[in-house]
Amino acid sequence: MYVMVGEFVTESNANVPKKCNLKDYDLAFDKECIQKMRVEDVFMRNGINIIPSIYANAGASGVVDKNTFIYIESIFLKTIKENIRKIDGIFLMLHGASEIEELGSGDHHILSEIRKLVGPYLPIAIVCDPHGNLSKEYVESATIIRSYRESPHTDADQTMWHVADLLCELLKKRQNIHAVYRKLPLILGGEQSVSTDEPVKSINQYMNKLEKDPRIMSCSWHVGYIRHDTSVAGSSIVVVPSTQEDQIYAEEVADNLYSYVWDKRHEFHYTGLTAKPDDAIEMAFSFEGKPVFITDSGDNVTSGSTGWNTFLLRKILNLNNLNKKVLFASICDPMTYQLLERMEIGQEVSIRLGTNFDELSKSVELDVIIKSKGNLNGFMMHDNEKVFGHYINVQIKETPIEVMVADNNWAICEIQQLERNQINIEDYDVIFVKQGYIFPDFKKYGKLCIMALTDGATLQDTSALPFKRIMRPMYPIDNI
Ligand SMILES: [Zn+2]
Repeated sequence: MYVMVGEFVTESNANVPKKCNLKDYDLAFDKECIQKMRVEDVFMRNGINIIPSIYANAGASGVVDKNTFIYIESIFLKTIKENIRKIDGIFLMLHGASEIEELGSGDHHILSEIRKLVGPYLPIAIVCDPHGNLSKEYVESATIIRSYRESPHTDADQTMWHVADLLCELLKKRQNIHAVYRKLPLILGGEQSVSTDEPVKSINQYMNKLEKDPRIMSCSWHVGYIRHDTSVAGSSIVVVPSTQEDQIYAEEVADNLYSYVWDKRHEFHYTGLTAKPDDAIEMAFSFEGKPVFITDSGDNVTSGSTGWNTFLLRKILNLNNLNKKVLFASICDPMTYQLLERMEIGQEVSIRLGTNFDELSKSVELDVIIKSKGNLNGFMMHDNEKVFGHYINVQIKETPIEVMVADNNWAICEIQQLERNQINIEDYDVIFVKQGYIFPDFKKYGKLCIMALTDGATLQDTSALPFKRIMRPMYPIDNI
């Protein structure tokens, strides 16, 4: 038997002032595509051959340039056309939060074009990120859809293996089933739906219980994605029956899961400590232990923000008698990075840091000493050995402040990313990172972690987002 595999990951933040194009993708084909998807063992164990199509991962980025998307999609379709007589099933990782110029959701487009080629019955299994948007048409044309449970996505690999296993079982004993969908009138940000916290913890436990029922193949609750205006935005439920006879029962389970989540809508809240920027700084600098992490949540690069904002840096520069060691990890400024890159370690130089794109990214003039140079490596489900960007760490003269000036907005979320470049978090009292909720690795070491409610492309106040195309009424925009 043969299964075609492919992956398309793009989280399109429409507030990012640049289109996502081919250069923004980590692309892989053939053997490398299979390696990056990390599901080869499951199919081999089940005696199933893999036909790779494309692995295209831009992570969190902007709205996708139409030609870029059409190229990526064409590889999925070409692979199917060339192997149409061979393929027994299709295994896809489609993140779910892409937005393509003129086309809308790229994920939905890919599935609908694939269905045009293979018809309604060929088994298609999709793994997705819970921070994606689904629709009835999309879900019902998939055979199996299952999202990660945990946010941050510590169960990404396990979910890929689990869904690959489900597809293998289905291929050995074919059933005429499809996923069942329910749309919730609920819109949530990722920072209000961390899975180590309630109510997500209970929702996940409830779904684990539902999946123990032999009539149910899988259950998912999708948080949704809120960084572009789209009619498919919002939370949703997906339930997959085990057999054709269980299809009606799956509808019933979907209704129960819908009610379970809906009844908890008032319980969603920011995880951990959140504060207005000035209060966050005050708390961090008066705190005894170290290190303290402050997240610049309005400039969250893990949600596609540019990482350009100098707003918090400028606030710290204005503090008097700063006697704590501070690290900004990092601030993205490609032009200043290029200037610094030509300098030697220990050299002193005057720089302007900040891209001046808007008020938040306003530049500051600084005299700095070059401390170190390093690479921005992968984290979590990315390849940890792969280099995604670079930085120069500078000390601002006559201050205890260091800034990692980066050439792109690659996130720093794990200690290994710093340690491999000899940056020791123990050396600092306060560390500023461009995230929303603090990532688990930093949370473990942070004596105090505060999410600063800063302004920016990833503004946290969901009810203030300017949506025109979403379904209404929608909680919490409307009080239902
Ligand atoms: Zn996600």
